Amino acid sequence: MKKLIILGGGESGVGTALLGQMKGFEVFLSDSGQLKPQHKEELEKAGIRYEEGGHTEENILVADEVVKSPGIPEKAPIIKKLREKNVHIISEIEFASRYTKAKKICITGSNGKTTTTLLTHHLLTTAKYKAELAGNVGTSLARQIAAGNEPDWYVIELSSFQLDGMYDFKADIAILNNITPDHLDRYEYKFENYIRSKFRILQNQTKADAFIYNADDPVTAEWLPNMSVGATPYAVTTKKTGTPVYTKDGVMHVAVDKSKNFTFMTENLPIKGLHNIYNAMQACTAVQLVGLTDEEIALGLKSFVNAHHRLEFVREFDGVEYIDDSKATNVDSAWYALECQKKPVVWIAGGTDKGNDYSALNELAKAKIKTLVCLGVDNAKLIKSFQGIIPVILEAKSMQECIDKCRAAAQPGDVVLLSPCCASFDLFNSYKHRGDLFKECANNLK
Ligand code: ADP
Repeated sequence: MKKLIILGGGESGVGTALLGQMKGFEVFLSDSGQLKPQHKEELEKAGIRYEEGGHTEENILVADEVVKSPGIPEKAPIIKKLREKNVHIISEIEFASRYTKAKKICITGSNGKTTTTLLTHHLLTTAKYKAELAGNVGTSLARQIAAGNEPDWYVIELSSFQLDGMYDFKADIAILNNITPDHLDRYEYKFENYIRSKFRILQNQTKADAFIYNADDPVTAEWLPNMSVGATPYAVTTKKTGTPVYTKDGVMHVAVDKSKNFTFMTENLPIKGLHNIYNAMQACTAVQLVGLTDEEIALGLKSFVNAHHRLEFVREFDGVEYIDDSKATNVDSAWYALECQKKPVVWIAGGTDKGNDYSALNELAKAKIKTLVCLGVDNAKLIKSFQGIIPVILEAKSMQECIDKCRAAAQPGDVVLLSPCCASFDLFNSYKHRGDLFKECANNLK
């Protein structure tokens, strides 16, 4: 019996354990932290061995293959030891995809993955296609396959960490949203390493497959000519016309071949901002390739509701709008949030800095931001970056203090925008926790 060792017992790890056992592996799951009670229960019920609170080397180094959670960094001692022994380490998607014949639409990028994934899935399902979500959103691919779920399409959100553990996997339709610096702490602070990870989405693709990318993204445009692209490429752009997919004068055009000509007014999109025009163009390209008609695409676009904490309107109070963009955990996502603001901004930013260079925001900050409220344990870098650019800079150490300061700083006609550019872990459990508290405090204003 082949030994499958799973490192990390979250949703994807437990899903892999269930699938691995079903496929005849001897499975052992190991987590350096604590497992959730429901996960333990599932493993016990299935008779799968596991440990928590640490990794026992003698149980792990005997692996024939290891499935590693995307959260575990390369520098973790157990990974180093496995590498020394040349053990094959893969990600959940690589493992699970061996056991499905469903076609796959895979979405990666620094920003826009979840929005594009959810939109693509929504377009397919409102047109009555059998499609399921997987990857970083919802139920893990492995768990769904273990449960015997065999849709026609999986729409899979892929992080660079998932891609790092993928070798034989192939996307039928790949979408690369964009590439901007993020997670550099996991890539030896070398942007190039992260870029190469993102381009792994291309691997194993052939002419019959599709690669949809943003031609206006400077990093993608610079690197793509040096990449080996086996798939048929489809560029999306807002900068020129005459290409199969573009937006001009507020109208999106999607025509993956000469028989098609889907058009849609961008002001009718339920998701706002330039970034969402790119996301929508990419999702529409994918589903047009699948075979959706113009009517089906238009119907789905109109009824889409995005996930929370992505430029989510919370309320208006005293003439001031409150917007929750807590998911903006890097500079580029905050750039797009600021770009689409039409009113003077009281901007909430800060948290755990991932090696940010804030200078890309200078121009927008000068033009749009009246007050910055830094919400973090250590705000020194943020303050230094925006001194002389934003007229008023304040600090807060809790969400309540932050909202109180925003309320005092904002006047009717302003917008209070939480778009932090940073991870949330210094003051909050997650971006969700940060966003939920923001909404709660904003909704409690009286
Ligand atoms: P991801 O899953 O890649 O983190 P999300 O769709 O969850 O992407 O969005 C994360 C943040 O990035 C949000 O603040 C959102 O408004 C912003 N965003 C979404 N799409 C894009 C894009 N194409 N380019 C830049 N920022 C984007």
